[in-house]
Parts: sequence; structure tokens; C-alpha cells
Amino acid sequence: MTNTLFTIYLFIVVTLVASAGMTLWERNAQPARRRFLGTCAAGYAVLATGCVIATTRTHIPGITGAVLSNLVMLCGYMVVLDAVAALDGRRHRGKSALLLGGMAALWAWGGAQWAVWTWLYAAAVPIALVCLATTWEAWRSPPLRTLRSRNVLIAVTGFHGVVYAARALVLPGIVARFGQGAIELSSTVTLYTGVLYSVVLPMVMLALVREEADAGLVRLATTDHLTELGNRRWFFSEGAELIAAAPGDLALLAFDIDHFKSINDRFGHATGDKVLKSFALILRDVVGPHALLARIGGEEFAIMLPGYDGQGARRVGQAVIDRFADSAVLCRSGVAVSATVSVGLAELGNTGRDVATLLGLADRALYAAKTLGRNRLEPALVALVQPAMAVA
Ligand code: GH3
Ligand code: MG
Ligand code: MG
Repeated sequence: MTNTLFTIYLFIVVTLVASAGMTLWERNAQPARRRFLGTCAAGYAVLATGCVIATTRTHIPGITGAVLSNLVMLCGYMVVLDAVAALDGRRHRGKSALLLGGMAALWAWGGAQWAVWTWLYAAAVPIALVCLATTWEAWRSPPLRTLRSRNVLIAVTGFHGVVYAARALVLPGIVARFGQGAIELSSTVTLYTGVLYSVVLPMVMLALVREEADAGLVRLATTDHLTELGNRRWFFSEGAELIAAAPGDLALLAFDIDHFKSINDRFGHATGDKVLKSFALILRDVVGPHALLARIGGEEFAIMLPGYDGQGARRVGQAVIDRFADSAVLCRSGVAVSATVSVGLAELGNTGRDVATLLGLADRALYAAKTLGRNRLEPALVALVQPAMAVA
């Protein structure tokens, strides 16, 4: 092995060992992905071991060194595949063990007789298969679907797999046409692909886990834990975007459950919670998936309906009122507890195109609904929605 090749191998080994250490360190900060990171670190360590054996294989008698280094390296790629597949609860251990056993037998049998074909071309086939299987797993895995770093994982494993596939399928033809120089070039390309893999893969695995954890924190910060609807903060930020993008009509409904305190007082806080959850389910059901839906206070909810004018929004609000009044939850003693809700409606007017103004108007209408007897919907006064017109 030339000095340059040795240096590059050494670089890959050091990178993989350092990455294994950093990944193990990160494991403590990411309890939800402890297993994934542990498996990745094991994969890097096995790949590094394979590289060390590859650099010393000329000192090992016969084909033992070549068989060993290829098997260990293949094993490393398989551990990485297993880590990615396990993110969605899948395992490839049986198939991997079979492939490893098969390759061990094939290499031991053909490695001496057809050395060039075995080590130069055929040894690339299982690596290509395992890397492309990793790409496929990253592509199909639902937990990765929303993460941007998934694309880098797909690119790095896919590229690695394609280079190895080309080595097995295309290189023999190139060598036959252009001679031995192509072999040297191919070895250099394969090695640099190894450098790319060993540097980028560990970085992207860490990025995946951090991105997923960040998304989890954002979800926590914007979701109401009891009803799993968005919270007030989320309603304001998403609502502002919706209003800015609204080409035409848009309405907001504010809901406040009637005499909710007395439900808590008579039936207990747990029953109160059940009523809140049941109301959230009714809201979701009536409103559908496209409206913005949030719990903005204790027993206060709001929905934003893009594309709805006053009449349409009134129908939605009335449907919620009716469904909720007809529903009941069972308290611990088995008594059916039902409640009613009051609703205020505001429409996007010529002025005040922001969530706070719309919600303020809907709140005032809601107050009117309370004073007019509850279990009803009141619209905001048009004069308040469009003060410019009122003055004129
Ligand atoms: P009104 O008809 O005028 O709206 O009367 P109300 O009793 O519904 O209104 P009030 O503001 O007096 O009471 C709201 C109650 O909601 C008080 C609070 O203890 C209760 N509450 C707030 N958050 C929760 C919660 O998460 N769970 C339960 N069970 N109760 C809650
Ligand atoms: Mg209230
Ligand atoms: Mg209330």
C-alpha cells in the first residue's frame, strides 16, 4: 500500500473513531434516540476496524486478510442499515447474517482462484446492496419524512451505493477497454467516496436526531397537552400567516364553555378535563382539517376559517353549539355531564387585519352571547369590524 493510500485510510479510521466517540457522547443528551445513536457508533467502530484490517491485510497470510477486512467492513455497513431501519421498527438482522455468511463462503471459495474478479469487482456488490438498502430505508421511514437532513442521508448512502454498484457492474467493461489505468483510478474514486461517507454520514446522523428533537420541542411549545389542539401562541403565529395569505373572506369564532367552573365544583376537575377533551373532539370533527383550531385559554377555544364569510362561519358555530349541547361525558360516579358553549363571531374587515383585533372583536361578541343567555352565537357588530365605513 502506498503512503498516500495509507494516509487516506488512516484519515478514515481516525474520523470514524472520533465520530463513534462523539455519537456516544450525544447519546446521553438524546434519550429518545439512545439506541439509534448507540447502533450508529457501533457501525462506525466496525467500519474503522475493517479499514485497519484492510491496511494490514498484506501481512496476513493467504486470502484471510482480504476475506476478513471485507467481511468486517460489510458488517459495519449492515449495522448502519440496521440503525436506520430500526427508526421505524424494522430489522434486517436475519437477511444481514445470511448475506454475511454467504459472502464469507463465496470469498473463501473464490478469493484465491479468481482473485481479480472477487476482490476488484464482486466484493463491491454486497456493499452496494447494503448501502442502497439504507437509502431505501431512509426514503420510506415515516419518522424521517419531515426532516431536512433525511435528504442528505439519502444522498450520501445512495451515492456510496451507486459508486460501489458501478465498480461491480461498469468497471470490468472500462478496464477491458482502457486497461489497467482504470483500476487505479477506480481505487482512488472508491477511497475518496469512503472519505466522504465517513465524514458526512456521522454528521448527518447527529443532525437527524437534533432536528427531530428540535421539532419535538416546537411541538411541545405550541400544543395544548390536554386537548392536543394548538395553543394560544400557535394560534397567534399561524393565524397571522393565514390572515396575510387570505385572498378573500376569513372568519374567526371564539368559544367559551358556559358555567364551566360549576362543572369542576360539582363533578371534580377530572370531569372538567373530560368535558374539555370532548369539546375539542367535537370542534375538530365539525370544523375539518383545514381550519386553524386552538385552545386559547382554560375553557376558551378559537377557530379561524379561511374562505368563510359571516353566513358560513355562523353555520359552523351553530353546528358546534348543537353538537356540544347534545353530547355528554360520564363522571366517575357514572352521572352523564353535559354543558353548553357560547360563541362570538368576527369577520375579516377592511381594517384591523391582525389576530388580536379579530379575536378582540369575537370576544366582545362572545360577551354579548353570555349576557343574552348563553348557549348561542352572536356576531361582532359590523361597525366594529369596519370602522372606516361606519364613520362614512
Ligand atoms: P361563564 O359561563 O361566564 O364562562 O362561566 P365559567 O364558569 O365558564 O367561567 P369562569 O371564568 O368563572 O371559570 C372558568 C373555569 O375554568 C375556572 C378554572 O378553574 C377552569 N379551568 C381552567 N382550565 C382548566 C383545566 O385545564 N381543567 C379544568 N378542569 N378546569 C379548568
Ligand atoms: Mg372563560
Ligand atoms: Mg366559561
